[in-house]
This record gives sequence, structure tokens and C-alpha cells, in this order.
Amino acid sequence: MSLLVRDCSWIVTQDDSRNVLKDASVYVEDGKIAEIGNRISHDADRILNGHGMILLPGLVNTHTHVPMVIFRGYADDMLLQDWLTDKIWKLEPNMTEDTCYWGTMLGCTEMIASGTTTFNDMYFFVQSEAKAIREIGMRAVLSSVIIDLAPDPKLHRENADKVLDFLKKIKSPLITPAIAPHSVYSCLEDTLLWAKARADEEHILVHTHIAETRKEQGDIENKMGLKVAEYLDRIGFLGPNVIGAHCGWVSRNEVKLLGESGTKVAHCPVSNMKLATGGTAPLPEMFENHVCVGLGTDGAASNNTLDMFETMKFCALLHKHARWDPTVLPAQTTLDLATREGARVLGMQAAIGSIEVGKSADMILVDTSAPNMMPIHGRDTIISDLVYSANGANVDTTIVNGEILMEKRKFTTIDPGTLARNIDRVTQDLLARSKQA
Ligand SMILES: [Zn+2]
Repeated sequence: MSLLVRDCSWIVTQDDSRNVLKDASVYVEDGKIAEIGNRISHDADRILNGHGMILLPGLVNTHTHVPMVIFRGYADDMLLQDWLTDKIWKLEPNMTEDTCYWGTMLGCTEMIASGTTTFNDMYFFVQSEAKAIREIGMRAVLSSVIIDLAPDPKLHRENADKVLDFLKKIKSPLITPAIAPHSVYSCLEDTLLWAKARADEEHILVHTHIAETRKEQGDIENKMGLKVAEYLDRIGFLGPNVIGAHCGWVSRNEVKLLGESGTKVAHCPVSNMKLATGGTAPLPEMFENHVCVGLGTDGAASNNTLDMFETMKFCALLHKHARWDPTVLPAQTTLDLATREGARVLGMQAAIGSIEVGKSADMILVDTSAPNMMPIHGRDTIISDLVYSANGANVDTTIVNGEILMEKRKFTTIDPGTLARNIDRVTQDLLARSKQA
């Protein structure tokens, strides 16, 4: 199969030189980018017209709980602990394979519609998630969350091990298994060490939450005499295969430890602001310490969207505002976090994150004819336009591994009517069962 995306008004390559090409085309063969240039004239099995569009790498969401889209808008404007204990944790035990399958379908549809091509997920019922993701055709890192304190004993590490075996057997080029001890405050030390050892032996990623709230930092400090990342460093948990979501309350010393150990960070500015966690991941200090940072939406229960364009803008604005400095996180750095750095967080930098010959064709077209995208002043403002003016609804076409998943805002692997009917059904069913419980 070959695909030609021809005559794109702009191509934002996100390569090492951050080249932005004008009036150029990209030729794809068997899912890989084979040629980029102004004069590609040969034919292809599929041809897309990129005129009036910006072609850029698909966005990478480094921290999600995708099936939680079912909880979107269910409980807002609450204190984090009340939100979790009174609302989310009341519904969550009543989730089923069916709820998670359709939740994943909805979450993936929303991500495709807003330009995300790869995501890093942590949730329950991963088999159902994997089924939905394979049917839809997105790229994902999947892991079954391990919580020692969960009321349901089956949500434990034996289950995680079973899921890991299942994911390894899938052998899909688009699905990568990981292991996910939820956090220091919800996992025993034994479990954290077991997960890390298991990840090291399997050469896979560890996905966890680190220092999301001040309470978490205070509790661990009182118990261990160390801050969260210091404690994780002491037990030998940190490392280049570890992704810590949030890191909003890490100290200077913890940033140093993250950098020295090669631990990656999934920064989730919208979720942090919505839950008013107060702490802002210290990105400038993280960059100084060579910490690899990507962006994440977190679950839709605390966001409430999975729109990475929105996350980029919130990210840039949050740091400018917090530091009283509009230069602190420029548009280019922010776009890097959502593309090539996100790929690096997931260890996929050789395959995705930029538009370069040899890489997988994970690309999106953004329509510049929308009112909020006009005018385009030229090459120098394209990146700003993408970060500050665009939103997910401006994405016209989404391509993963050379397959078109959305073209002119029409999905190719999902029927929106069937999706809507099933989302209504599983949501009503979940609420009814949760009321009875
Ligand atoms: Zn999370």
C-alpha cells in the first residue's frame, strides 16, 4: 500500500533542525515515510490533497486512562479526595469489560478526531482496551494498573502479570505492553520492586504516578522521611524505563534524581489545574537537568477532554503565568513536548514523533481555512498558530502507520451511530448498577 499526501501548504517536520517546508508532499510506502519533497510526481494507491493544510506528526499523549471518558462530566468542581472517594471510586468497581471496550472506542475516537495518534494508557480490563484499539488502528502503550489498596483483590499484581502475558502474545506492531504500579501511596514497596524488576526483565516501560499532590508528598515524607522521588530512588525504582505522571510537587533534589536516573515525566497541566493540585511540574529546571518530558491529558474524568491541542496551549500558558515570564515555554518547545519528546518518553523516537524518511507515517493534517486559523502570516508563525490558535476540531485527517483513520473528519474504522448508541447503553447501565450497589 502506498499513500501520497501531496501539495501540503506546510509540513512541520519536527526533525532535528525543526524544518518547516512549504508546498511539499510526503510519500508513504507500507506504513513508512519513503520520500519528502517539493517534487514528488509519482502515483500512489491513495492520494490526499494537502492544499490549505499543515501536515505535522501525530500528537503523543503520554498519560491517559482512556476508558474513564465514561466519567466525563460526571463529577466536577470538587476537592480531589472527595471527587475520588465519593464519585469516581463508587463507579469504578462497576466497570465491566463491555464498559471499558466502549469507553476505549469513545476515547480513541476523540483522540483521532483531535490529532493524537499514540497514547500511553493505564487502566483495568486491558484486554477489552486492546480489542478496541486494534479495531480502531491507533498506536498505544498499554498496562493494567496495580493498586494494592483497591477493594477488589483481583485488581492485583497477578492480574497485571496475566495481562502482561496477554499483551505480549498480541504481537501487534501498534500495541506495546508496559507495567503500571499506580503510585507510591497505593502500592506496597514489594509491589513497586516487583513491577520494576518485571519491567527490567521484559525490557518494557513502567508507568506510574509521582508527586501529583502536596498531600502525597507530605504523607510519604512523614512515613519514610523522604519525598516521593527520593524514596523511589532509594529503593532503586527510578530509571530510563520509568514514566512518572505529574511530578507537580517534586523538589529541586528530586528533579536532579529524575535527570540522573533518566526517569521520564508525563506532564498533565489541564488535569492538575482542574483538580487544583497547586503544584506545577518545574519544567525549566527539568530541562536544565536533562529530564525527558512529554505531555498527557490524564483521564477525561479530570480534564474533561483528550484534546492534546488544548493541553499544549494550557501547558505553555501555565508555565508563562507561573513564572511571570512569557518566554519561559515557547511554542516550539511546547510542540516538541507533544510530538518528538513524547515519542522519546515512550522510547519510540526511532519510529514516531517527527516526519522523516524511514519513520512510521503517523501524521495529521490541520485545516488552515477555519476562522480561528486565519491568517497564516508565514513560516515564522506556523508553530505559534498550531500551539496557541488551533484546537482539536481543526484536525482534518489523521493517519497512523500509513492507515487513514479519519479523512475530512469522517472516521474510517468507527461508525459514530453505533458508538453513540453503545455509549448511552453502557453509561446508563453503569449508573444503574452503581446506584444499586
Ligand atoms: Zn493518572
